[in-house]
Amino acid sequence: MTDIPEQLIEHLRSAAKVVVSTGAGVSAESGVPTFRGKDGIWNKMSPQELASVDGFMANPELVWDWYQYRRELMNKVEPNPGHEAICKMERLFDNFVLITQNVDNLHQRAGSSNIIELHGNATRNKCFSCNELFEGDINLKDKLPHCHCGGMIRPDVVWFGEMLPERAIQNAIKSAEEAEVFFSVGTSAMVQPAASLPLIARQAGAFVVEINIESTSLTNIADIFLQGLSGEVLPHLIAELT
Ligand code: NAD
Ligand code: ZN
Repeated sequence: MTDIPEQLIEHLRSAAKVVVSTGAGVSAESGVPTFRGKDGIWNKMSPQELASVDGFMANPELVWDWYQYRRELMNKVEPNPGHEAICKMERLFDNFVLITQNVDNLHQRAGSSNIIELHGNATRNKCFSCNELFEGDINLKDKLPHCHCGGMIRPDVVWFGEMLPERAIQNAIKSAEEAEVFFSVGTSAMVQPAASLPLIARQAGAFVVEINIESTSLTNIADIFLQGLSGEVLPHLIAELT
């Protein structure tokens, strides 16, 4: 079991603001595959075909099939002890923000509430033209879904080459700047601008902690690297803290 350094516990006991930023690794123990690394989806599938505007325009049926498949998977799996520990952290600190790149809704299902969704949420859809949101399942049986304005409906997620939702990224940067302790958990730190958040936090004086099963480009910059499964390290951290 990874040791939790006393220095981290001391920082957490005195911290006014704690920020946790998560990536696909947090959901790996629930059975949602990550994109990169061992068993990553992009080892088998093409991101350009399945997760880009051009890919959707070229073959919307294929992209909808892929998202329906992922939604069914996401509905079948459950939040794991890592998601649950992050939900507990929200209750332990007066000022706590969760920033996630995940679109699987597992943090929300685990009970976290103060969440910045950087890459959207695959349980929602939106109109390509007017941006209206559509909650819940979409009927894909007959034809491709269209909005009342005539625009095509698509999953409400950020695809390759797209901008992040403006308010989400601004709030995430502000939280990173204000953080006294900043955790980067289960992310390969390769997707921008999310990968810059720990650097922004570090520059603004935060104590930066990385939790991952393997080292990343962030590891040398972080104050502490806790190597291990997020579903084990995070509950252990909460136990040490409380
Ligand atoms: P990534 O797939 O690029 O990297 C996953 C990281 O998690 C790797 O560094 C890996 O070492 C680490 N990891 C794997 N299992 C772990 C565990 N049990 N505990 C701790 N760390 C673990 O993921 P990313 O950095 O989030 O970037 C991928 C992009 O794809 C994001 O934009 C995200 O929106 C999207 N995505 C989302 C989901 C999801 O919603 N669950 C899944 C795959 C990809
Ligand atoms: Zn519309």
